[in-house]
Amino acid sequence: MAWRCSAATNAGLVDNLVTANILSTPRIIAAMKASDRAHYSPRRPYDDCPQSLGFGATISAPHMHAHALESLAPMLKPGASVLDIGSGSGYLVAVFSRLVRPGGKVIGVEHIKELNEAAEKRFVADEGTVAKELLQKGEVVFKTSDGRQGCPGEKFDVIHVGAAVPVVPEALLEQLKAPGKMFIPVGDVHEDQYIYEYTKDAVGNLKRERLFGVSYVPLGDVEYYYARGMKLVE
Ligand code: SAH
Repeated sequence: MAWRCSAATNAGLVDNLVTANILSTPRIIAAMKASDRAHYSPRRPYDDCPQSLGFGATISAPHMHAHALESLAPMLKPGASVLDIGSGSGYLVAVFSRLVRPGGKVIGVEHIKELNEAAEKRFVADEGTVAKELLQKGEVVFKTSDGRQGCPGEKFDVIHVGAAVPVVPEALLEQLKAPGKMFIPVGDVHEDQYIYEYTKDAVGNLKRERLFGVSYVPLGDVEYYYARGMKLVE
């Protein structure tokens, strides 16, 4: 499963995700084709498995990015606001940004400064002057902070969480707009983890649905990684 969509090119990888019935929404397919993983993955960008970024972080497997994007697709419209917690490589920030233009906003929150700086550089390498403009206008933001707090003072149509939590942080539920949708891996590091979709309707009622089992790195404490002298993979 983890390797079945691997390919020799970005387009081939996305086509394989379509054939495997993981991707079906034309706008998502186009945005993934436009965002070449070679800019974001230090190694083997078209293998359908996670790759190390350093600091214990990985760029998630393409099939997991595809599942997340398909789950959130109904809300990923031009003008939408997106919060990406544990943004790591910056790959999803780039894909979200392509989907919410014009007028949308994407905030990636990552607690390792070095990863965030690398992600911003990768985004500029991917999109050049367009990326620079979006960063300047604040329509794409790479914020270095603890994702468990979300982005205080702001609300979002879409929240994606790229690292597992033992319990869903209240701050994230509160920062989800009505209507809004969140995709989040929940579970202990050593126990089973599952993807949950949280859907808020227009009057604020929250619905929770368990999708499938996964294995994500934990949404943890930044000190842990620095104390172990971990480095960036370039
Ligand atoms: N979606 C990203 C996933 C990266 S792995 C990608 O595909 O590139 C998960 C990321 O969460 C790591 O980069 C890790 O550094 C980050 N992370 C872990 N705990 C965090 C926290 N408390 N706050 C913010 N980011 C965190």
